[in-house]
Amino acid sequence: MSQESLDPTDWNDLRSQGHRMLDDILDYLEHLRERPVWQPIPAEVRNRFHEPLPLEPSDLAAVHRQFMADILPYAVGNAHPGFMGWVHGGGTPVGMLAEMLAAGLNANLGGRDQIPVAVEHQILEWMRALFDFPETASGLFVTGTSMANLIAVLVAKTAVLGPTVRQQGIAAGNKRLTAYTSAAAHGCISQAMDLSGLGTDALRIIPTNHRFEMDLDQLQSAIASDRKAGLIPFFVAGTAGTVDVGAVDNLAALSHLCRQQNLWFHVDGAYGALARLAPDMAPCLVGIEQADSIAFDFHKWGQVPYDAGFILVRDESLHYQTFASPAAYLRRETRGVAAGSPWPCDYGPDLSRGFRALKTWFTLKVYGARQIGAVISHTCALARYLQDRILETPALELLAPVSLNIVCFRYRCERPDPVNARIVTSLHESGIAVPSTTIIHGALAIRTAIVNHRTQKGDIDALLKAVLAFGAECDTAPLSEQES
Ligand SMILES: *Cc1c(COP(=O)(O)O)cnc(C)c1O
Repeated sequence: MSQESLDPTDWNDLRSQGHRMLDDILDYLEHLRERPVWQPIPAEVRNRFHEPLPLEPSDLAAVHRQFMADILPYAVGNAHPGFMGWVHGGGTPVGMLAEMLAAGLNANLGGRDQIPVAVEHQILEWMRALFDFPETASGLFVTGTSMANLIAVLVAKTAVLGPTVRQQGIAAGNKRLTAYTSAAAHGCISQAMDLSGLGTDALRIIPTNHRFEMDLDQLQSAIASDRKAGLIPFFVAGTAGTVDVGAVDNLAALSHLCRQQNLWFHVDGAYGALARLAPDMAPCLVGIEQADSIAFDFHKWGQVPYDAGFILVRDESLHYQTFASPAAYLRRETRGVAAGSPWPCDYGPDLSRGFRALKTWFTLKVYGARQIGAVISHTCALARYLQDRILETPALELLAPVSLNIVCFRYRCERPDPVNARIVTSLHESGIAVPSTTIIHGALAIRTAIVNHRTQKGDIDALLKAVLAFGAECDTAPLSEQES
């Protein structure tokens, strides 16, 4: 039996192999543009991922060769400048290097007295300042906004029912809580209602106006009629940057209404909240600074590598009371490694937590917040450029107003839904550009979300050229049974 650890016997060998791996991935990033955005996955490659559990060791170099051949070419492609589907960040080489350092340190950020926790706290201080939150506000890195929205619902539930709800459950008080969000909200708001035990039926879906923003009159009457029926309205989730078209709810009006009605005002700012960093876009978000909680992602517009979601909560004590649990094995001290209470694990469901803060800290320090803001401004300028090109091209039709960085449009033809769906699939398979689709007022739209810092005007031109070419081709091609 070997007495050896998992460390190498020859560090020099590992060091040279490590340098080769670093060079390969930096080469990949340097030459991204020469690659297809995405490519179909050959069956034999897919089949190579059904191996039995390897019992014996393999050479690191060989495993890395398999990574280069079978994994690297077949990712979704969101690092590529031609990726405009969904709302994915591009990542950066700096974030990647920071992630490598974090993995080397292997810090566990559940708690204890360590500077990695202070780094996370530093990001919290920066976010308090960015959103004009009080110095007492709490915050936490999480996987993403889906988890951050769930945490917000749970803290708001504590605010209205008190911390005893954690022992007694929501059924004990016999109070039926109701929450509100718009028809354009992300599905994870509804999922948060489900996971919190409040149920999705308790979420009122408020219709949107012609700008795809929550209709405030309808919100007000929904709240009034729920009160009349003896229910307890408690939570409103506004959206800063809807996932479909990038609309921003009227956050100032929502915050006013919530204060008046004594409701928790949450903002799902998954990608949009960081527009606070862009001087020309920040005014769209007025009112976000009044929120009781904000959920957002550094991994979208912030360009931090996945994953790096964040929840910011105005009232630290409610946040603490929602999650903190005494446990003998997590006993706190005033000195030694077990000092430094409260710990991050007191503010969320995770105990073991990675060092997401490090790649975010590196990103904000190395590029500077102003440059991240400039990237955000640039993606919005590209969206306006795309909008203008669509408006001047008779074969194309704009399907929603452009508020931030998302443009929804379609190719005009006799059978627009199947033809536009086929245009998008053809674009994906061509490797030229990857937009996604959505449904706008019942019509299938080509949805272009410009999030990546690498995307430039030429990428927009290439997308348009390909849409027109595939449009002309698909329009005359017969449809399959499934398409029609
Ligand atoms: C992306 C997104 C989410 C989900 O965030 P994840 O980080 O993917 O969990 C929620 N809401 C909006 C508006 C989004 O754009």
